[in-house]
Amino acid sequence: MIRIVLLGPPGSGKGTQASALGRRRSIPHIASGDLLRANVREGTELGRRARPYMDRGELVPDELILDMMSERLSQPDAQEGYVLDGFPRTVAQAEALDARLREIGRELDAVVYLRVPEEEIQRRLAGRRTCAACYAVYHVDTMPSEKEDVCDKCSGDLIRRDDEAPEVIHTRLEVYEEQTRPLLDFYRRQELLREIDGTIGVDNVVREIERLVGAAHAAAQEQKA
Ligand code: ADP
Ligand code: ZN
Repeated sequence: MIRIVLLGPPGSGKGTQASALGRRRSIPHIASGDLLRANVREGTELGRRARPYMDRGELVPDELILDMMSERLSQPDAQEGYVLDGFPRTVAQAEALDARLREIGRELDAVVYLRVPEEEIQRRLAGRRTCAACYAVYHVDTMPSEKEDVCDKCSGDLIRRDDEAPEVIHTRLEVYEEQTRPLLDFYRRQELLREIDGTIGVDNVVREIERLVGAAHAAAQEQKA
């Protein structure tokens, strides 16, 4: 049983690492961005309200996110732990998550921060392509599809997400600096923060996270015993 938050700027590879880690630990990978995009696709009320913020690269208001996440975290598969990706993203969201965990007598095991230099982020985000049909993610330099603009898995069209236009990327990075970076101190104060170099490759990052999280987990168990 393990509860982890992955933190990092857009383009830090949170999604890829979180999903790999979730698979290895057999715990759900819960990505707020994926949940929001599913709502947008399905045309729900939440999706309709969230979309304009997402398209501009701004944060969706806390109350919408908190309702959505609270619903997701109460599902049966999340009772045995999870990897959170994209949530919390503001101090208010982190405080709400803390309150909820306290209520049910549980705690986070670790908050893993993926550190990636700014110019690397720019490069990664600008080259990202997503399959319009199955949502597989590619990168024109580092993870290209076999045929340009065609998905290897389902032959769908590879597209740029609306929020990956250059000016929107700029906004997303600014929003991260202003609203999400303060979470690093928030979790540092709780002694939950663990930093990882996000440029060492997916397999290495996953191994490193497992090592850090395993150690944090063991320490927590010891304290309880
Ligand atoms: P990335 O981390 O690559 O920027 P995500 O897929 O995590 O992208 O999120 C996409 C968009 O969804 C964000 O730009 C934001 O508008 C919205 N979003 C996702 N998670 C949150 C959150 N926790 N709080 C507010 N908005 C969010
Ligand atoms: Zn596809």
